[in-house]
Amino acid sequence: MNNCFVCGRNRSDFSKKSKNFDDHIEKEHDPWYYLYFLYYMKQKGLDELNGLEYYAWSNYVDKSTAFLPISGTMYLPENEAEELDNLEKTIEAIDKRVTSVSQSVAKIEELIERISKGDGISPVHPQKSEKKLKIVKN
Ligand SMILES: [Zn+2]
Repeated sequence: MNNCFVCGRNRSDFSKKSKNFDDHIEKEHDPWYYLYFLYYMKQKGLDELNGLEYYAWSNYVDKSTAFLPISGTMYLPENEAEELDNLEKTIEAIDKRVTSVSQSVAKIEELIERISKGDGISPVHPQKSEKKLKIVKN
């Protein structure tokens, strides 16, 4: 057997990453584990399933393979450069969101300050409230 029955990755994918393919198909992606898992969920009952189990069970009932790690496995690391690139993009996206949230918080704090000083802004006036919401969004 040169392809994993569960994820479909082949022996050479594993040897390139210095990972043991035989260990992978025997310990990490043994198809029997998936069968046991389905049996376990059936025995446990729909009302007792946790979120992940419910997701897997729903997929199984709908004849969907979305819950199976087809062509992907956490046991086989991606190309390091690719992984680093993805990580940098994620950090940039998080950084942008943090900056955006910080700006929104600063605007909200400024509005609260102005409202608490009572400089003509009424938090209950609908038109002014809408206007302030627009400012926060920008
Ligand atoms: Zn696999």
